[in-house]
Amino acid sequence: MSIKTKVCEISEYWFSRVDECGLSVDALEANERCWRCGYKNTLEKCHIIPDSLGGKDEPSNLVLLCHRCHLENPNVTDPEIMWDWIRAYGTSFYDTFWFLKGMQEYEFIYGKSFEEELSRLNIDDEIQFKDLFEDELKKTAFHFGHPYLNSATVAGVMRIVIKKYII
Ligand SMILES: [Zn+2]
Repeated sequence: MSIKTKVCEISEYWFSRVDECGLSVDALEANERCWRCGYKNTLEKCHIIPDSLGGKDEPSNLVLLCHRCHLENPNVTDPEIMWDWIRAYGTSFYDTFWFLKGMQEYEFIYGKSFEEELSRLNIDDEIQFKDLFEDELKKTAFHFGHPYLNSATVAGVMRIVIKKYII
């Protein structure tokens, strides 16, 4: 199944209608960044009402998502659900989505919030922590030149860096 509607038709349709405030992406970069997570990535045209449930190949029934987010999007017949989902994940800053998800995952796995860990270990040098974090991130799996971020990888990298302070 190939979608005939063009990427620019989809972004023009939606970004002339939705309130971009609170979304992970703004109109200028809507053809380059995923509308849910806001990361620069190859974008896939994603049906709002799935093709298999009678959704049409037209801009009003499509949004642009990265591959990861495309796997997680709601596949239901009520078209409002897609935008509820996209909007609920809106981040104020670019490239923070997976970091925020990683913090939630960290708390889920280790039973303490990431902030609690930082204060417990008196880690107050943010720049040093960030450098260590970036170094460890480079040792994770890469996918098309970008770190293959998911919440578990980000939480794992946070843990690896925190362990350096414990030892
Ligand atoms: Zn995404």
